[in-house]
Amino acid sequence: GPLTGKIAYIDLGQMHAMQDGSGYGPQTRVRGLGPAAAQDKGAVAFLIRSVGSDENRMPHTGTTRYVDGHQTIPSFAVSAPDADQISRLIEWGETVRVHLSSTARTYQTTSQNVVGEITGKTHPEQVIVLGSHMDSWDLGTGAIDDGAGGAITVAAAKAIADSGRRPARTLRVIFYGSEEVSQPTPQTGNGGGVYARGQGAALDKHIIAGESDFGADRVYALRLPAGAQGSDFQKAATRVLYPIGVLASDRVETEGGVDVGPMGPLGVPFFGLAQDGTRYFDLHHTANDTLDKIDPAQLNQNVAAWAGLLWLIADSDVDFRAMKPVTPATP
Ligand SMILES: [Zn+2]
Repeated sequence: GPLTGKIAYIDLGQMHAMQDGSGYGPQTRVRGLGPAAAQDKGAVAFLIRSVGSDENRMPHTGTTRYVDGHQTIPSFAVSAPDADQISRLIEWGETVRVHLSSTARTYQTTSQNVVGEITGKTHPEQVIVLGSHMDSWDLGTGAIDDGAGGAITVAAAKAIADSGRRPARTLRVIFYGSEEVSQPTPQTGNGGGVYARGQGAALDKHIIAGESDFGADRVYALRLPAGAQGSDFQKAATRVLYPIGVLASDRVETEGGVDVGPMGPLGVPFFGLAQDGTRYFDLHHTANDTLDKIDPAQLNQNVAAWAGLLWLIADSDVDFRAMKPVTPATP
């Protein structure tokens, strides 16, 4: 092929930091599928400008994808300043030589989901899921991805437990295992897929699920299932959350998140407490993902938003599945 014996190099330009993190998706698709495509053209290795929004020299790791049985090649991310330099040299017509060395390896191991709950007082079978994931990339400590999510969801449940009033419905906090290795689906062995499959008919009694997996910066919007747009529930939730800076959103929550996502096709509605992700892709999947990056005041605001919203849902009989989207009147 045209790349026989060469290193494939891709520089998509610097990723832009966005509040909703939307700059990340398009570049990760290239990172994920690029190595297999490069290998098909004869490349011996794959090198990409790190998919992150920072300008320091900490490259971001992340998954790559191969169709089963496809041969793999060593794949690397290079930090933004180093990518700038390589691209500059290529532009000048220099022959670029790169020395690569990797300690990465794949192996089989077993992960676990960790589940704790406050059992509902009058409707214990009605479950609300608060999700996050326990695994992380090993460059940093996984403080923002996703230690923060575990801390936020468990602290929200604890705030409700400490109030001395037990809610009518069950609050189930799940630390999912094995999120980072691939995206869970109802068929995969990730924690999210295994949980959804294992629940069987009990999923019909899952009222709603949400996930915290976007760092610890402040929550700015509440997203609800389509049927809840304009509902009395949305009005009540907005009254509770507005004083801490969380506004109602007309964007419908359809995904939930990577870990709770597999419950969606099986009928479970989702909520989303959208966080400010402007800093998230400066840090995530790098050696800089450490506890000192977490702002305690913003972390507390997350806990307050989760606790306030979850109390409203857990101690009510609101039925998100029964709420049908309001059809706009025809003019
Ligand atoms: Zn994560």
